[in-house]
Amino acid sequence: MALVTLISEEQIAVRVRELGKQISADYDGKTVHLICVLKGAYTFLADLARVMEIPVTMDFLAVSSYGKGQTSSGEVQLTKDLDVSIAGRDVIVVEDIADTGLTLNYLLTMLRSRQPATLKVAAFLSKPSRRQIDVDVDYVGFEVPDRFVVGYGLDSDQLYRELPYVAVIE
Ligand code: 5GP
Repeated sequence: MALVTLISEEQIAVRVRELGKQISADYDGKTVHLICVLKGAYTFLADLARVMEIPVTMDFLAVSSYGKGQTSSGEVQLTKDLDVSIAGRDVIVVEDIADTGLTLNYLLTMLRSRQPATLKVAAFLSKPSRRQIDVDVDYVGFEVPDRFVVGYGLDSDQLYRELPYVAVIE
């Protein structure tokens, strides 16, 4: 078994900085409230927040998704809710990867009902070929092929989250 790099640490740094600039420009004059979807998005959230050029606040929620397998059960469960209200805030959901879209669709429906001023999505990765539900992902770091990827927060059975790059296991 070998890890093969798909996206290097340098490529990630460049792209995350670009996203930070773009989001900062789009929300100029505002404070953006970043919602990190645990666990996979923790690295992206930390890096993205540090390259933002406008004030940010942040909060964390957790959903259960794949468990130990690599295919979605299609069922999403909220295992940790937010600490503070999002009503009236400019919210960006920060996700590790948009795959089938089921998780984001669930989260967006739930968060929309809490009446944020605006609600957008930033996903570090996207696998468009796998989408089952059409969700709007406003900011995408990289599009990836239909391969199971690890690193930069993404795990395989809880391993490999610490890798500073994105890899496939071969
Ligand atoms: P969904 O299918 O609902 O869009 O994706 C839900 C979650 O599955 C993602 O947030 C992510 O945690 C996990 N996931 C989807 N594709 C991959 C992948 O290629 N690698 C890893 N490690 N997790 C994935």
